[in-house]
Amino acid sequence: MCNRSKACAFNRTYNKNPNNNMLHQLLIETYCEGDLHEVCRRKGYEEDMGSTPLADLGPNGYNVDSNQRMY
Ligand code: SF4
Repeated sequence: MCNRSKACAFNRTYNKNPNNNMLHQLLIETYCEGDLHEVCRRKGYEEDMGSTPLADLGPNGYNVDSNQRMY
C-alpha cells in the first residue's frame, strides 16, 4: 500500500469512483494498493519536475483517459 494515497490526486479522484473503468481500478489495485507503488511514475514526476502532477497522470505514466504517454 502506498503511503501517499490520502494526498494523491490520482488516488483521490479515481479510487472507489463509480464511474471508474477497469483500467482505473487495475491501476489502483496494482500500484496504489500493490507492490508497484515503488515504481509509480507520479512519484518520479514529482521528484523530477518539483511539482505535483494532475490527477490524470496515472501511476504507469500514461494519461488515464487517453492512454497517451505523459511521463
Ligand atoms: S498513484 Fe502513485 S503516488 Fe498515488 S497513491 Fe498510487 S502509487 Fe501512490
